[in-house]
Amino acid sequence: MNNSDLMNRDWLKDTKSEYDVIVIGSGLAGLTCANMLARGGHSVLLLEQHHNLGGLATWFKRKGGHIFDISLHGFPVGMIKTCRKYWNAEIADSIVQLKGIRLDNPQFSLTTTYDSDDFKRVMQEHFKIPRETIDNFVSTLKGMNFYDDQTMTTRELFEKFFPGRHDIVRMIMEPITYANGSTLDDPAITYGIVFSNFLNKGVYTFRGGTDKIIGMMRAELLKNGVDIRTKCLVEKISIEDKRIAGVVANGRMIKGKAVVSNGNLLSTIHKLVGDENFSESFIEEAKKVRLNNSSCQVYIGIKKGERIDYIGDLLFTSEAEKFDSQELCSKNTTSRTFSIYYPQTRPGSDMFSVVASTNANYEDWAFLSEEEYRAAKENLIQRTLDALEKYIPEIRDKVDHVEAATPKTFQRYTLHLSGASFGTKFEGLKASMGLPKEIAGLFHTGSVGIIMSGWLGAANYGVIVANDVDKFLSAGGPLKFPS
Ligand SMILES: Cc1cc2nc3c(=O)[nH]c(=O)nc-3n(C[C@H](O)[C@H](O)[C@H](O)COP(=O)(O)OP(=O)(O)OC[C@H]3O[C@@H](n4cnc5c(N)ncnc54)[C@H](O)[C@@H]3O)c2cc1C
Repeated sequence: MNNSDLMNRDWLKDTKSEYDVIVIGSGLAGLTCANMLARGGHSVLLLEQHHNLGGLATWFKRKGGHIFDISLHGFPVGMIKTCRKYWNAEIADSIVQLKGIRLDNPQFSLTTTYDSDDFKRVMQEHFKIPRETIDNFVSTLKGMNFYDDQTMTTRELFEKFFPGRHDIVRMIMEPITYANGSTLDDPAITYGIVFSNFLNKGVYTFRGGTDKIIGMMRAELLKNGVDIRTKCLVEKISIEDKRIAGVVANGRMIKGKAVVSNGNLLSTIHKLVGDENFSESFIEEAKKVRLNNSSCQVYIGIKKGERIDYIGDLLFTSEAEKFDSQELCSKNTTSRTFSIYYPQTRPGSDMFSVVASTNANYEDWAFLSEEEYRAAKENLIQRTLDALEKYIPEIRDKVDHVEAATPKTFQRYTLHLSGASFGTKFEGLKASMGLPKEIAGLFHTGSVGIIMSGWLGAANYGVIVANDVDKFLSAGGPLKFPS
């Protein structure tokens, strides 16, 4: 198909005039929600504005045989159960543990598997913390649930167990900040739940790459009868008498009994639905919901035939004297995670690549002139290569492709406001869950709060919302799904 055929193609050709559910967006939450609902016997239309499914769970290819994964750096073991139960055994069976998690900074340098036993070992041997304190800390975290008191901050929690120990704060906080953008000022409860998830059994990845898992998910969706349409931008969610009527996508109205938006929560409320359709009190609360920060990445392709020694799977590096959430997001941060992809990550491939990720603020990138933007990206690339040189000597000689992404890139490809990598801060969860009480048949799923983001959080939120939608469609009838 040539370019003009693609431009003129009707991406909504032969869609039905009405569906039980229309899912807007194919991030992991949208995909999982659509799959569950189709499995439950509902007719489902999945609309994605991009040409690939996956949202932030995505990849891209470049000349020289390079494939880069955007957000496949590590997730908790729970993803195996979620994939087995709500997708299929084949997907679940491709999830493997990452054994080499390295932290290297001016305060300490160590390697861990980041599971419960090894965490306790590191805390005892390296940080000289008594076993009893560690056990107390871990059991406090494991005992936390979302409905508990939310007034204690993460900073206060750490101060209670490890007073004055900035090195420990870094050890237990830095990986989590990369994983969900949270800070020491967020509620301790959000930290507790996410940390316990990781601490349980370490950090996992999908063997075969993001393209493979999304391909397998696509096949499963088709098998279950989901009508998948890419390159379909939803411009409006239509409401009649406080009920969902359908959506307008690529200029065409399609009716639906329920709509699940997997797009950014704030654009779902303010743009796709419109403030006039909500109660004043809801909008007032929604206006208080803060977006999470964004990211920068540098994609480094190692030349075909070149190899690099094993230096760990996930490498958290920093030159900052101590952990500081603001430093982590600043444009000149020295704190970055290197994900190293060896050939065994993609069986059948003989290529190596490295993806460097930093947290970032949209405002630092959005208002640069084109020339300044280009220069800032080049500066980011060179600083990243300088930092990598410490672990892979003469890295520049081994590389034949480098490029960078900024918050603007993430915004462009996913439509997340300000390129938010993890949706909204924790207060977004209440607004997200409150949508069906405002408009019958309107649901949201996907990165909100700290708990419902990341690969596992998003997929699990998709399951929760699928159950709610099923209940709504069955008008309070019995649940079809395992909860
Ligand atoms: C740099 C980076 C690294 C990350 N690393 C990790 C990691 O190592 N481990 C981890 O667990 N998580 C990681 N994450 C987070 C994780 O990728 C996300 O939390 C998760 O993938 C989000 O899924 P989601 O369902 O919320 O939807 P998203 O992935 O945000 O997808 C939303 C989808 O909706 C579509 N959409 C939006 N609006 C519309 C519209 N109007 N019409 C049609 N389609 C629309 C978008 O195109 C997109 O496909 C990372 C994120 C980033 C940015």
